[in-house]
Amino acid sequence: MSLAVTETVLDGHPVGLRADDGRITALGPDVTARPGDEVVDGRGTALVAGLVNGHTHAAMTLFRGYGDDLPLMEWLEQRIWPAEARLDAGDVYWGTRLACVEMIRTGTVRFWDMYWQPGAIARAVDDAGLRATIGAPLIDALDPANTPKLREQALESLADIQGHGPRIEAALTPHAIYTVSEPSLRWVGEHAAEAELPVHIHLSETEEEVQRCVDANGARPAAYLDRLGLLGPRTLLAHGVWLDDDELALVGERGATVVTNPVSNLKLAVGGVFRYGAARERGIPVGLGTDGAGSNNSLDLLQDVKVFALLQKHEARDPAAVPAAEAWAVVTGQRAPLLGQSGTLAVGEPADFVLVGTDLPELSLGDFTADLVYAASGAAVDTTVVDGVVLMRGGVVEGEAEVRARAVERAQRLGVA
Ligand SMILES: [Zn+2]
Repeated sequence: MSLAVTETVLDGHPVGLRADDGRITALGPDVTARPGDEVVDGRGTALVAGLVNGHTHAAMTLFRGYGDDLPLMEWLEQRIWPAEARLDAGDVYWGTRLACVEMIRTGTVRFWDMYWQPGAIARAVDDAGLRATIGAPLIDALDPANTPKLREQALESLADIQGHGPRIEAALTPHAIYTVSEPSLRWVGEHAAEAELPVHIHLSETEEEVQRCVDANGARPAAYLDRLGLLGPRTLLAHGVWLDDDELALVGERGATVVTNPVSNLKLAVGGVFRYGAARERGIPVGLGTDGAGSNNSLDLLQDVKVFALLQKHEARDPAAVPAAEAWAVVTGQRAPLLGQSGTLAVGEPADFVLVGTDLPELSLGDFTADLVYAASGAAVDTTVVDGVVLMRGGVVEGEAEVRARAVERAQRLGVA
């Protein structure tokens, strides 16, 4: 299948792009459509790499706005956990489809997910056309007696995720060190090494988590994970807000990736800021995530990349910290190879890209990258292409109305809308 994008702009220069069988096969000023191509008219747009959401819980779109502005434990215990206890595969499927529509509309081409019913997530991502690395939230309530059950659950989840084609990959996703026991975490580390799977885990989100880890294990969270064999180049740590100097050095040595979720951290008032500059000095790969719609509440990375850059500047008391080009590199996955998106557009690369409207007031003047980071929102995205397939054209996602209606029905069924 061939796709041609005509008369768009890349880095300020007029270009066309061709894609065949999901790869970019031509990119340059003289590239035009051939007979038989599917054609996207790129006039009034600029071509940019697709965005990558390094940490989310997609189906939590169902819980958007359900229990906002509550303290974390009250929100979880009184709102989210009772509602999650009623979730079925259909709920997760339609919640994930709704998240996928929102991501497509705002330029995200790949995401890393952690939620219940991973088989339903995989079907939803497959049907939506995005790329995702999907895991199940493995939780054993800190009881080692539950390790065999966790193991069974992990293997079942992997079987449910695999076999959906190359756009969908599997990970092991133990929820956190405060919800998974030491024997279960050790097993995850061993199985991940054996099966060469990524491990995606929440780490060092709150100060309380750090203190409890030190009290229980005599070590801070990163050192504890390392002791269990879980810190390596295929490990993705979501948050990392409270990693101290020694932990950052250790994470850097082991080659693990950190995904920072600044909007979720701010909304849940965790009280700290992930130390981006210190992490990069130690060679740590870093990506950007939204976290779930329960705690963000948006999946629009073009909003979050601005918050990320501003928060880093504010914390460093330095307006030169995380310049626009650096923030853009983070949100397109260029600072975290584990995330699986090169963030570059070139012949031979996967045909995953976005066309952004250039006739919008906020994008018509000034440095384009700075405009994208500081001025644009996801509403600037005109067209989204993944694997050479057009998922949105001119702001229209096919089937969107049905997805919205079905997700609303599901939220009503759960009693959260
Ligand atoms: Zn999370």
